[in-house]
Amino acid sequence: MAALDAARIDALSGSLSGTVFQPGDDRYEAARLVHNGLIDKRPALIARCRGVADVSTAVGFARETGLEISIRGGGHNIAGLSVTNGGLMIDLAEMKGMYVDPQARTIRAQGGVTWSEFNRETAVYGLAVTGGVISTTGVAGLTLGGGLGWLMGIHGLAADNLLSVELVNADGAVLNVTAESDPDLFWALRGGGGNFGVATSLEYRLHPLREVVGGLIAHPFEAARDVLRFYREFTESVPDELTVFGGLVYAPGSSELRLAAFVVCHAGPAEQAQRDLAPLREFGEPLLVEVGPMPYPVINTLLDDGFPRGALNYWKSSFVERLDDVLIDLAIERFETTPSPLNAILFEHFHGAVTRVGVSDTAVPHREVGYNLLLPSVWLDPADTEANIAWTRATFDLVSPYFADRRWLNYFSDDDGADAVRAAYGPNYDRLVEVKRRYDPENVFRLNHNIDPIGRE
Ligand SMILES: Cc1cc2nc3c(=O)[nH]c(=O)nc-3n(C[C@H](O)[C@H](O)[C@H](O)COP(=O)(O)OP(=O)(O)OC[C@H]3O[C@@H](n4cnc5c(N)ncnc54)[C@H](O)[C@@H]3O)c2cc1C
Repeated sequence: MAALDAARIDALSGSLSGTVFQPGDDRYEAARLVHNGLIDKRPALIARCRGVADVSTAVGFARETGLEISIRGGGHNIAGLSVTNGGLMIDLAEMKGMYVDPQARTIRAQGGVTWSEFNRETAVYGLAVTGGVISTTGVAGLTLGGGLGWLMGIHGLAADNLLSVELVNADGAVLNVTAESDPDLFWALRGGGGNFGVATSLEYRLHPLREVVGGLIAHPFEAARDVLRFYREFTESVPDELTVFGGLVYAPGSSELRLAAFVVCHAGPAEQAQRDLAPLREFGEPLLVEVGPMPYPVINTLLDDGFPRGALNYWKSSFVERLDDVLIDLAIERFETTPSPLNAILFEHFHGAVTRVGVSDTAVPHREVGYNLLLPSVWLDPADTEANIAWTRATFDLVSPYFADRRWLNYFSDDDGADAVRAAYGPNYDRLVEVKRRYDPENVFRLNHNIDPIGRE
């Protein structure tokens, strides 16, 4: 193995179109920080790549010097897996290229693109695809981990819409992976995360969509029991076009006012949206109904303020069997004691197109109609870290009797271990191990929700 000395680092710097940052460099400190302010890791080197050749060189360099690789797309991973302590961070933050083909209705986007950038570009042509519900999240990490979002009822997950991936593999070779070229690898990339290489660009199928009808309906917290029971009944028969998340939140900007709320997105024609949303608007005595037509990119920014960059995050989530009355009561009881007004308890409804894909058609097995329960805990003062983590863990444990044995990979925290990865891949795990063995037998790409090529658990 080659030593990591100054001459070698200079040679790497000289060969990249991008930049290499080391501890002590002006831009190193900013470049190592990610969305979650709890993550405080110090890579030996950060290779801020400008293109595929840079990424290939960086992978080769890491292998020669034995440095652990981390891959940074949008930097939103709660577990902080895009940063390594002492290794080489392959940073795609400047790889922002996008090309929309309006005739073919496709887009190719480079690995550092975020959803706000992506949606802006596709909106020019009146096209869209399922993307993250927060606009600052990275396209690459979200899609490779499945990618749920507002359009999953009509268009499935982000990963369901992938057409090809340009991938730098463990040997530094560049592959254009499609369902025809490498069927197993393409299957694995649609949900298998960063386990198989660096996705330097991703190509998606797009769908005509300019406007949605969306927004927030908020009820007094005192009505939460009825609101969540109504949510359960209402979501039993919603059309594909309508996705509703229900939950318990604080009023934006308030540390006092708790609410029971629906966040809605209807991607069908305006008259249909009026009809479909009427029961939600007419239910109970809401404090606030702010629902109306808006360009699709706007719906993906509505909740951004609740997730400021650099805030401290610790998330837990699991699919639930059903919205049991007792589960609803427990959620309400726990929300009364939450230590941060940025915390929430959310139910994300899965239905429609996302549930019509076969369990093993992609690496994402979560194809059942139902709800993902998410505890996205967010706070600002480091002095509150212990209280927030303790609250989130205790709440998660308390509601765990209602869990299905399925978990959403993209939401894992750094203490979600091998069991959680198993639950995220379910019946697809064994095939993923086989593909991993074939394409990355030495586990070069291991700083992720790892699929161990040896199949260890
Ligand atoms: C505020 C917020 C909102 C979110 N909303 C959603 C949502 O609506 N739907 C959803 O499904 N998830 C959501 N997530 C979870 C999110 O999808 C994951 O955290 C995902 O990993 C973020 O991708 P990224 O590129 O921003 O992350 P990064 O931190 O940059 O990367 C995370 C991991 O993804 C892999 N990776 C990233 N880029 C590449 C690449 N180019 N090639 C290979 N591997 C790569 C690597 O393993 C890396 O460690 C959200 C997270 C946050 C913090």
